[in-house]
Amino acid sequence: MNTRTVFRIFKQARWKHSSLKLYDGARVAVIGGGPAGSLFSYFILALSRRAGLDLQVDIYETRDFETPGPPGCNMCGGVLYESLVQSLAVEGINLPATVVQRGIDYNMLHIGIGSVKIQTPRQEKRIATTFREVGPRGMVYLKGRRLDNYLMQSALAMGARRIFGQVDQVRWLTDPKSPEVESRLIQVKTSGGEFHGYDLLAVASGVNTAVLRLFCDLDFGFQPPQTSKLLVREYYLGQEVVSKYLGSIIHAFLLDIAGLDYGAVIPKGDYVTICLLSSHGNLEPGAMETFVDNPAVKRILPADFSMARQACNCSPGINLAGSTHPFNNRIVFVGDCCVSRLYKDGIGSAYRTAKIAACTVVFQGISADFMKHYLPFLRRMEKDNLIRKMLFKSARQIQNRHFIERAVLKMVSREQQGKANAEKGMSMLIRDMLTGGAPYIEALMLSMHPLFWTRFLWNILLAIVFRPGSKYDPNLAVHTLTSDETESHS
Ligand SMILES: Cc1cc2nc3c(=O)[nH]c(=O)nc-3n(C[C@H](O)[C@H](O)[C@H](O)COP(=O)(O)OP(=O)(O)OC[C@H]3O[C@@H](n4cnc5c(N)ncnc54)[C@H](O)[C@@H]3O)c2cc1C
Repeated sequence: MNTRTVFRIFKQARWKHSSLKLYDGARVAVIGGGPAGSLFSYFILALSRRAGLDLQVDIYETRDFETPGPPGCNMCGGVLYESLVQSLAVEGINLPATVVQRGIDYNMLHIGIGSVKIQTPRQEKRIATTFREVGPRGMVYLKGRRLDNYLMQSALAMGARRIFGQVDQVRWLTDPKSPEVESRLIQVKTSGGEFHGYDLLAVASGVNTAVLRLFCDLDFGFQPPQTSKLLVREYYLGQEVVSKYLGSIIHAFLLDIAGLDYGAVIPKGDYVTICLLSSHGNLEPGAMETFVDNPAVKRILPADFSMARQACNCSPGINLAGSTHPFNNRIVFVGDCCVSRLYKDGIGSAYRTAKIAACTVVFQGISADFMKHYLPFLRRMEKDNLIRKMLFKSARQIQNRHFIERAVLKMVSREQQGKANAEKGMSMLIRDMLTGGAPYIEALMLSMHPLFWTRFLWNILLAIVFRPGSKYDPNLAVHTLTSDETESHS
């Protein structure tokens, strides 16, 4: 064991027993004004008022959320869950209709041999979409504030200050009046600006930023989250075409394309967003062409769909695993740069980490308290993500095994027709794995239920015995938009 390690263990042991608290008039810096940064600022100000503290909260943000395209873009599919919209309303943040486009009717699952719709009767599991910022490049009209801007405005209305600029340096400043290491303050500096000292720093920078490297050098054990790159493109189709071909439906694809875990086609007003995701490493740029050329994808797009109509494209990183040691005395990480639910509900994770971190800061303290009150939540989230990895590995086994695919489609189809219980069936399992704000443990519990397995094995048996074209042919389950549905969408 080297001296450095001994020093760190000693330092951490001391750290575990100390407790620093924010005082009236304390200064808080937040790096990043995405959902996590704005919500953390909102909560810390709201809660500190209740605790009788008057805090100064500065949000450092580089982006201008009012400019369409890359300058204001936060690279996101923009799927929100009704449960999150409701939770925010309870917190006093009522997202208006210009921010949340409700009316996503259901999900459509497409696998190699066919497609089925997956609808949930439960209101809180419904889905909405949002533009995180003004919209894709070239979008000239502004119908109203978008999510990131709206959350930022909520934090500003609560009393936070916004500072335009990119934080490029972070350092400790030892309080000259105190010999205690714990008393050192933290300073941040924007490019071209000066250092400013704070009592607490919340890092909400997301994962697509170089700022995280600065914290590795502060020597408290922080390591950024492991990430993988997505391919995202936004295409302009016009409202009429979007309604006619895609409806108000989120299309999820589990296709046998090399390296691709999952693809999603999300309608948003005049636009459609296509997101491709891989956990095996970064996708080749050509993966988008391969995806759009796949017969299952072609089925839902207009015949004259052209990739030349692309309005925006990007390859942002997305979390695969959480960060290491995302807190220290006077520092706490929230949102993506801390931990996020794997492949879904990133905005919901930003909300939860922001709220729990803010509660810890105001009601407990800003040192050892993170270990006791914040870490258990982060660990639960990491464990839940491991369950997702396990479930997805099993799901990959069914790809290319057509008899299992047929059994899955048949089960979902019967459930959607009300002939079997969708709440405890394949529909809910697939839905909870691909979308929704529910933890993955719920999907695991469902998948282990004896009734679920009895029905699944029975359907596999039928799929083996009765070949395609027979009465049990699950291709009968393939669902295309009926004229009624398309009319109601337009
Ligand atoms: C392609 C894609 C699609 C997604 N789709 C969905 C979806 O449909 N639904 C969903 O719930 N989640 C989705 N997510 C995840 C979701 O976007 C994130 O989980 C969420 O944005 C996390 O919020 P955050 O505030 O932690 O980070 P971010 O949203 O990344 O915000 C971080 C902010 O910090 C700012 N910043 C960074 N560095 C600095 C610096 N040095 N100085 C000042 N400011 C800085 C950035 O400008 C940014 O505004 C998607 C992610 C990707 C990549």
